[in-house]
Amino acid sequence: MAAEAHSTATLRLTVGDLRVVHPITVPSAPVPATEVVPALQGLVNAVVAAAEAGKAISCRKGCGACCRQLVPVSRTEGERLLALVETMGAERRERLHARFAAAEAVLDKAGLSDRAGRSDRELSLAYFALGIPCPFLEAESCSIHPDRPLVCREYLVTSSAELCAGPSQEGVTPVPVPKVSMAARGLQNDSEDWFPLALLTKWAKTRPRSDMRKTGPEWVQRFLRAIGAQKGERQRL
Ligand code: SF4
Repeated sequence: MAAEAHSTATLRLTVGDLRVVHPITVPSAPVPATEVVPALQGLVNAVVAAAEAGKAISCRKGCGACCRQLVPVSRTEGERLLALVETMGAERRERLHARFAAAEAVLDKAGLSDRAGRSDRELSLAYFALGIPCPFLEAESCSIHPDRPLVCREYLVTSSAELCAGPSQEGVTPVPVPKVSMAARGLQNDSEDWFPLALLTKWAKTRPRSDMRKTGPEWVQRFLRAIGAQKGERQRL
């Protein structure tokens, strides 16, 4: 079988005060948006590395306080995570499904499955107050660390770890990382499209289906345009 062709380019991105130069490789042929997620993860990693340079980060393996926050996930990343779960062994899948069901039950009971009528801040505080561990959190560490959502990569703090567990996050000092992850939300449908990660399996039941395919460079261009639209940033491929 012929090897799949890929396109490589060097991105030069200005986000906030940061300048990021990052090589990116994506499939040349038309593919679903999920196929470019690894390239977007690499790009977000590069932005985060630039933002955290020279700072003393206090986040450590085994400290999962922030993994009880509402994690907004784009439809494209949701599809990618569902595919990831499908590759797992039956026992691990079963454990995960049980955790997702438990999270869904708590959110339903608290009336937080539907975010209508709440500001993002209200929703996020009410969600954190419930103390729901992310279903992917195991022994206070991320069990899907290489595949974790883009937004999880962008959250780093320089304040002491105990503060992250406080109810209002008072005193927590996050590293000011530009939220490039938000650009993934409109990747497939030109409008903000996200859901809380803890509702992944619930979302899967009613998720919109699409056979939209674009070349890897076209997907990346859409992502970059969305960054530009959000922040007035400059980028080129
Ligand atoms: S996906 Fe991983 S890093 Fe993100 S909230 Fe869940 S456990 Fe934490």
